[in-house]
Amino acid sequence: MAGYLSETDFVMVEEGFSTRDLLEELTLGASQATTDEVAAFFVADLGAVVRKHFCFLKCLPRVRPFYAVKCNSSLGVLKVLAELGLGFSCANKAEMELVQRIGVPASKIIYANPCKQIAHIKYAAKHGVRLLSFDNEIELAKVVKSHPSARMVLCIATDDSHSLSRLSFKFGASLKSCRHLLENAKKSHVEVVGVSFHIGSDCPDPQAYAQSIADARLVFEIGAELGHRMHILDLGGGFPGVEGTKVRFEEITSVINSALDLYFPEDCGVDILAKLGRYYVTSAFTLAISIIAKKEVLLDQPSREEENSSAPKTIVYHLHEGVYGIFNSVLFDNTCPTPILQKISPELTSANPPLFAEEDWP
Ligand SMILES: *Cc1c(COP(=O)(O)O)cnc(C)c1O
Repeated sequence: MAGYLSETDFVMVEEGFSTRDLLEELTLGASQATTDEVAAFFVADLGAVVRKHFCFLKCLPRVRPFYAVKCNSSLGVLKVLAELGLGFSCANKAEMELVQRIGVPASKIIYANPCKQIAHIKYAAKHGVRLLSFDNEIELAKVVKSHPSARMVLCIATDDSHSLSRLSFKFGASLKSCRHLLENAKKSHVEVVGVSFHIGSDCPDPQAYAQSIADARLVFEIGAELGHRMHILDLGGGFPGVEGTKVRFEEITSVINSALDLYFPEDCGVDILAKLGRYYVTSAFTLAISIIAKKEVLLDQPSREEENSSAPKTIVYHLHEGVYGIFNSVLFDNTCPTPILQKISPELTSANPPLFAEEDWP
């Protein structure tokens, strides 16, 4: 063990003990009054994170995974991933500090935000984080000034028109601008060591990876021609994280492996890495939350005359968390969380009218 976790971080459970078993224990004997008061909380199955890692290694044996800290920065997740040997992709100073505090060496950290605050660039310089990404001249100039020994990764735009969360309008240099940026870097004596891209999160089209890998090859050629020692290809994120997407994951990885074999064959001396967020953590986390109210509503807003008619109705449950808090992914990422009924408090079913009826549950 590398020493990120200690024995006190663990509680022994029997084989097969699940998140639901744990929730059952935690809510055992809790009255409705109690569960009503307790804030929503997450339960994490860190074993699921470990399983994801081994699946990744099996499917993409040539790729070294980095974890995108912004996705979920719980200490448990970070320590487990550090123990498994992952590197970390940080978007700002706070994330770099966080992973350095648990003992991750600077050599395993990438400051991968193409748009950086100068103070954060200086933090990276002071603390030995040398790998930084950029996608425009202004950023390049900022790094030249504040972190002259940085090694830069050029972030290129992708065709992310199919992705749920589109990033290329915000990040990524167009292929056309790459030569100019690489020339500029050369003039400023900045070492450009590689190319990165991010096809956007939850991209349904695996060909997007193949296209971007082909584009990266072109940029490698230009870089080499201008005298940059290019040796890092960063495939970014976008890998699905929800349970039941194993087939799709394998479909994506087989497209990637073929494209790598074609454009960056085994003996080409290029270090291939990916920065995954959702892939590692999505399926590991379960939110425990109480239903606080129930309302029967008409499916269609009736006109005044129809108000008493027998229009179809549905039941709306209110929770003590919403889209401005924990459920913001419903708005930002179009996620659709699946509710699982864990426990019915007897007070709910015996109330008149009952606050909860099992037959109403989807
Ligand atoms: C968020 C982010 C990732 C991870 O994205 P996922 O789709 O969650 O894997 C990777 N790279 C960068 C630059 C990011 O901002």
